[in-house]
Amino acid sequence: MRQIPLRSDLRALSGYHSPQVDVPVRLNTNEAPFAPPAAWLDEIASAARDIDWNRYPDRAATELREGIAALHGVSAEQVFVANGSNEVLQSILLAYSGAGRNVTMFSPTYQMHAQIARVVGATVVEGKRNVDFTLDRAEIERIVAESKPAVSFICSPNNPTGTVESRENVEAMLLCAPGIVVVDEAYAQFSPWSAMELVNDDTPLVVTRTFSKTWSMAAARLGYLVGPRWLVSDMEAVVLPYHLDAFKQRAGLLALKFVGDMESRVRDIVAGRDRITAVFESLPVTWWPSGANFVLFRPESMSGKAVWQGLLDRGVLVRDCSGWAGLDNCLRVTVGTAEENEVFVAALKEVLA
Ligand code: PMP
Repeated sequence: MRQIPLRSDLRALSGYHSPQVDVPVRLNTNEAPFAPPAAWLDEIASAARDIDWNRYPDRAATELREGIAALHGVSAEQVFVANGSNEVLQSILLAYSGAGRNVTMFSPTYQMHAQIARVVGATVVEGKRNVDFTLDRAEIERIVAESKPAVSFICSPNNPTGTVESRENVEAMLLCAPGIVVVDEAYAQFSPWSAMELVNDDTPLVVTRTFSKTWSMAAARLGYLVGPRWLVSDMEAVVLPYHLDAFKQRAGLLALKFVGDMESRVRDIVAGRDRITAVFESLPVTWWPSGANFVLFRPESMSGKAVWQGLLDRGVLVRDCSGWAGLDNCLRVTVGTAEENEVFVAALKEVLA
């Protein structure tokens, strides 16, 4: 076998892995626990027949971008869509970072920010969070002054801690950062505020969103950003031709007709989150307030690994963060359906007993 070595700077990277174990209750990847509305499935099934499958899709994804723009009260020229918000993040990093440029984020945070930055050849400079995972303005200013980042990430709510970033901190970052500021809002619908209100053509701010969580469309891979017009038009320099297929464009557009269903599901998830944290209060665990569809917690009487295994033995898969830097012994549970949440809390009580 003649094997060509991988780029040496990538060999040290481990990639992004979340084990997909086949268990009855999967609460490890922050997806929506519900299928999309049945009416959406019907519409998309008939939409499949109307597509000109022999033709390339609308390269500009015009209708979908108009739909998303209407949802947020912005112009379609401020919206860029791609295959999952991961591809949106990758496009931003391709356009504005790269070799010889710094990219900052505040750890622990969503690992793909650093991973993609490294893959595109940029240098990652990580700032620190406080012990409760909040972020100090002084730390924002320190990291920016030291690294002059081409791209800075703020993840709000932050994965995996659930922490909601304050508007003051986002504004502080915008005041000092010399480059693009990305607020990753993959979980914004569960959170009390959004940086979307700060987006305009004079500010190098981008807010990224996904259809993978609240919209129950993780299988489709669809995400977008809202940002200044000049930035959206810069994306053309890095994105592949016809990157977003016609079927997905229709799927996303049709999903936007179901905002009401989506909002009611968000309310159910938030209620589920409250139920889980109420149980945490009665158990030997530390947990952190979450503005997302998951909660980070740390068992105090047993190792995180042992609790993870105990839950798995009972058919419940959560995310094992116990080996991640700054997250000793921590586990992250995604809020599921009411039934799944009950299975989880019963299993956790048993494991900790
Ligand atoms: N940002 C954050 C903070 C996430 O947690 C995720 C999903 N794990 C993503 C972005 C990527 O989402 P997707 O590519 O499915 O849109």
